[in-house]
Amino acid sequence: DSTSFAVRVAPLGGTGLVLVLAEDQTERLRVEAVRRDFVANISHELKTPVGALSLLAETISDASDDPEAVRRFTGRMQQEAGRLTHVIQDLITLSRIQGAEPMADPDEVEVGSVIEEALDTVRTAADAKRIELASGDSGGLTVMGDEGLLATALRNLVSNAVAYSPKQTRISVTVEETESAVEISVADQGIGIPPQDLERIFERFYRVDAARSRETGGTGLGLAIVKHIMTHHRGEVTVWSKEGSGSTFTLRLPRTEDADRSPAHAG
Ligand code: ADP
Repeated sequence: DSTSFAVRVAPLGGTGLVLVLAEDQTERLRVEAVRRDFVANISHELKTPVGALSLLAETISDASDDPEAVRRFTGRMQQEAGRLTHVIQDLITLSRIQGAEPMADPDEVEVGSVIEEALDTVRTAADAKRIELASGDSGGLTVMGDEGLLATALRNLVSNAVAYSPKQTRISVTVEETESAVEISVADQGIGIPPQDLERIFERFYRVDAARSRETGGTGLGLAIVKHIMTHHRGEVTVWSKEGSGSTFTLRLPRTEDADRSPAHAG
């Protein structure tokens, strides 16, 4: 990596001396590059469905005397519009959550209901691939947090599990309580993630296989959202994966008693 300096020269009035300031610009340039990449990625993600929509509209107007073709193309338009909504929704969620301070006033959230909420949203997609969704008993466990955000995090994990698994496999969601944390794991028997990509999949827009990810309707933002939601909850997300045999993502949240113990109550 190269280092870059900005040099400022200022004469010190009347003294005949000159002040030279060298400022390390490396970090500022890196941040700028990340932001430029982010904007370029967003533009691309928005342009793709908009381009498809305008092409489809044109095709429909050419095929207006063929009702069957009109029906097919309007269906495709609905799909592309749905995709656009998905990208925009993910961007809104991400901008709301990234860089946020750890939650100040969390609610007590039942883990079992978060799991049910997340599984309900992927049931249709799982049924279509005859994927079995199994969830263990969460024993009435609770964590401190925001139920909507926790459900979003878990939904992103199970919908990835469905998207990246072949037909007739099994996805299981399990809950475990350790000394200091509640762990919710989503294990699939899917395609897995190559070791060299494991560290990067939580970055915004990073995909192992861009073409396949678009096919499955992914935005490349799902895991970045999960990571930021976990940070906001003083928790973390980890992954274990083996190419060709499956992946397990684990959400680790501080236990209710620990999260609840502010200095005023301690002791
Ligand atoms: P996407 O919208 O592309 O799914 P994500 O941020 O949710 O974006 O995931 C990033 C990438 O990580 C995906 O493109 C995919 O390559 C990989 N990935 C995520 N979850 C899984 C999984 N359960 N099995 C295999 N690969 C996965």
